[in-house]
Amino acid sequence: MSARPGEDELIARYFAPLAASSGALQLTDDAAFFSPPAGCDLVVTKDALVAGVHFYPDDAPALIARKALRVNLSDLAAKGATPFGYLLAIALPADWSAEWLAAFASGLAMDQAEFGITLLGGDTVKTPGPLMLSITAIGTVPQGRMVRRAGALPGDLVAVSGTIGDAALGCKLLGKTTGHIELADDLAAQLKDRYWLPRPRLALAPLLQDHASAAMDVSDGLAGDLAKLCRVSGVEAQVRVEDVPLSLAARAVLDADDTCLETILGGGDDYEIVFTAAPERMAIITAQAPVPVSVIGHISAGQGGVVFRRDGQPLRLLRGSYAHF
Ligand code: ADP
Ligand code: MG
Repeated sequence: MSARPGEDELIARYFAPLAASSGALQLTDDAAFFSPPAGCDLVVTKDALVAGVHFYPDDAPALIARKALRVNLSDLAAKGATPFGYLLAIALPADWSAEWLAAFASGLAMDQAEFGITLLGGDTVKTPGPLMLSITAIGTVPQGRMVRRAGALPGDLVAVSGTIGDAALGCKLLGKTTGHIELADDLAAQLKDRYWLPRPRLALAPLLQDHASAAMDVSDGLAGDLAKLCRVSGVEAQVRVEDVPLSLAARAVLDADDTCLETILGGGDDYEIVFTAAPERMAIITAQAPVPVSVIGHISAGQGGVVFRRDGQPLRLLRGSYAHF
């Protein structure tokens, strides 16, 4: 194990190279500054991750870093925003190593290049507890154009990007939640990959900004998250389970064990976007979307949350979504 640097040297060695924007002053000042593009609102979001809760202490550090960044970028995508930069707070446990931090920083570098963002600042502290990190991401939208959760109207269609349930099944395969799944190795690998490395749907952001009536990122399970969107919009959603897009791997799991539907609809970590739009607007989105988009139902008047129907029969889910408390 190589020698551990002190706090200032740590920041200079691992984080300053990631702080490319001139206003970050190579992390040698108390704070950073930047000028948002003219006529834009800043969109800000934060997620905190704790070892043993959101990832395991022995997960690959570069993947922990990338996941921490990507869950925030997913929130920005759902708001129709273009990511600009982020701040990082990290609390290191007593046994941190230089190797761990170097790999963690390399993960951040990889995703900064992929998503065109830069580190603006942060804080580095020690903790008597498990490793904790928190990222605040900053994006931009034209003034007044952030896509809200509130805004879904009766008659709107409901759609999701990508496929639903893969990450929650992957998490199960990794033995991180109870339950057993039998699956061919290549399919299992696809599901685990979805758990480890979210794919924020930033490519969808401009279309959402122009056409969606409401949107949110699916992080805690489609059922519970769509219910939240409905609650703040004051409407109800009618979803056909048959139309919820599943990967081949998730389909194979479901065919073998129907009780996994609960995990697929209520498990977390999808980092897809669920959104609503008037039918003519939805047609534009589905025609132009650079990522797969599937219409799964429609919005109706009412306060019943989300009504899932399978073969026309209402489906009762035991557990709608992941909740910490
Ligand atoms: P202060 O004591 O005023 O909080 P620090 O010495 O902690 O200042 O930080 C110095 C600079 O390094 C600041 O610009 C801060 O934003 C940056 N910084 C500290 N830790 C991190 C980190 N984990 N990631 C990114 N920037 C950091
Ligand atoms: Mg500090």
